[in-house]
Amino acid sequence: MVAAVSGHFPTSAGLAGIAYNRISVSYQVLARKYRPQKFSEVIGQEHVTRTLRNAIEQGRTAHGYIFSGHRGIGKTTVARLLAMALNCRSSDQPVAEPCGICDSCTEIRAGNSVDVIEIDAATNRGIDEIRELREATRYRPARDRFKIYILDEAHQITDAAFNALLKTLEEPPDHVVFMLATTQPEDIPQTIRSRCQHFNFRTVRFEEVLGQLRKIAERENIAAEEDALALLAEAGDGSMRDALSILDQAIPFASGRLTAETIRSLVGAVPSDVLEEVMQAVARNSSEEVLRRVDALLSEGHSPLHFARQLVRFLRNATVAKIAGADSSLLQISSDERRRVARVAELFTEEDLARQLQIMLRTHSELGYRPEQRFHLELGLLKMVHAQRLLPIEQLLSEAAAAPGAGGLSSPAKPVVLPDTRRTESSAAGSPFAADSARKGKLSAEPTPLPQPRPPAATSTAPVVMGSAAPAIAAISPEAEAPEEPTPASADLRQGVLDALESTGNRMLSSLLETGAWRLQGSELTIQVPSSAKVIEMALSAEAKRLMVGAASRTAGRSLTLKVVPGEAGRPLAPGRPSSNGGGGRSRVEQNPIVQRMKEKFGAEIRTVIDYREKR
Ligand SMILES: [Zn+2]
Repeated sequence: MVAAVSGHFPTSAGLAGIAYNRISVSYQVLARKYRPQKFSEVIGQEHVTRTLRNAIEQGRTAHGYIFSGHRGIGKTTVARLLAMALNCRSSDQPVAEPCGICDSCTEIRAGNSVDVIEIDAATNRGIDEIRELREATRYRPARDRFKIYILDEAHQITDAAFNALLKTLEEPPDHVVFMLATTQPEDIPQTIRSRCQHFNFRTVRFEEVLGQLRKIAERENIAAEEDALALLAEAGDGSMRDALSILDQAIPFASGRLTAETIRSLVGAVPSDVLEEVMQAVARNSSEEVLRRVDALLSEGHSPLHFARQLVRFLRNATVAKIAGADSSLLQISSDERRRVARVAELFTEEDLARQLQIMLRTHSELGYRPEQRFHLELGLLKMVHAQRLLPIEQLLSEAAAAPGAGGLSSPAKPVVLPDTRRTESSAAGSPFAADSARKGKLSAEPTPLPQPRPPAATSTAPVVMGSAAPAIAAISPEAEAPEEPTPASADLRQGVLDALESTGNRMLSSLLETGAWRLQGSELTIQVPSSAKVIEMALSAEAKRLMVGAASRTAGRSLTLKVVPGEAGRPLAPGRPSSNGGGGRSRVEQNPIVQRMKEKFGAEIRTVIDYREKR
């Protein structure tokens, strides 16, 4: 039978009884104890719960739902609440808020309702299971209004099984409702998605998690330092469930009082003053001090991987603080931490920080499968110290801003003219002329007077040539990071926007947009994605849009507007990202004219090919 219940939920009536009568016979994990019992108690997903309640009130419920988003942010909880609302016996029709006390509500909550079947699609993903499920949908519910199937981890279902499911979704019996919960909605076939209402769950905001933790600590009579709760909220990283599960572990350690120290040692966190000190040493170019700090940390028992992850997060926050200011809502951290990242942001330029972040991201992802973690961590940190010296080559190769003299290094007197018309959307920060002429693909040989906000390059009357700054570094750089070959439509603009989304946790939106067609006309960036207008509306929050406009304008070096429009309905999505470390990426890089020129002129060799879309 397919009714295997997902691991998160209790199946035994006994445990459930304890859970909801609040009799502390045995310790019950907090996430379960404080699981929302009503839509109004769900934290941070008002856009979902409000829509669902309205739909129920107006009698417009669907037969298929997709709930997508990160783990631990309430997808299955909302699925269960919706199941309760649909089957609640307090009324003779679905109710906007479940009563919570009728047989149906209590059974669903306890996970033992006959008519609500929770399936872990990770283990029941095949055609046979789904066929069985299809067969079962032909029978009417045993007692309640609807027969409801909640498929957890739904993206794991095989293609053949999805096809079988599709037949049921095409002509669903009146009494059947499917709810698909998934962290990877892009892996669910478009044919299925188009027959479901799709709700994209947000990561829960820091303040919301913190507020809820405060309430729970109070209800549990736990005296907790505010710093301890802030650390918990940070460690949860947008997931209430993760934050609560750390709190669960912390309570036995806290003798009377929950301190920040307890939480820190529990999650293996490096005190953030140490992160700040490491970055100060980087700013001072002090390789030795960086190595000494790392040595001290590792001998205290911190893991290289964990430290790298924290430094990644710290750098990300410092970068955001630099760009958007320390009080930006893009920073989901405590006020203490805000001050700290703001101080570090002061030490570096935005480009420096982005580069440090990139180096640490890469170091972190490499650490996972390398035997000598410590050495790789140290190498990564040293690269950060040296990063300033790597500036020109990276700028050149990534075809980012090419303002003459950017970074303060002198460029060769004679600019190298690269007849590369594909760099259409590159722009020179600070130079509207450069941006304009580059956009039009006119690499004029006429001397163009340029406004020079920074120390000028050797020849200020040089023609506007993208990437002419200091190619000599190529010869000594082991970090020759070659970019993805640009597509006719603005590869780096696209990447700038996608990166901005990814680094702020908008991965779903990012992968949706990644499949789209990007066009730039005048100052309007249009992204056509193969989804319905409704999906776009749900996926594209006002905040994400602001973020995208900001990133696009920064990358282009001028102010852009943004439109995301639906594409052709039937066009299949291409999930998954092109692999870049393999031969394909390398050969494309080898064909890149800049790289070829580097090899010719300086005998540079390609060591590593990094796909900027895969730097996580
Ligand atoms: Zn009820």
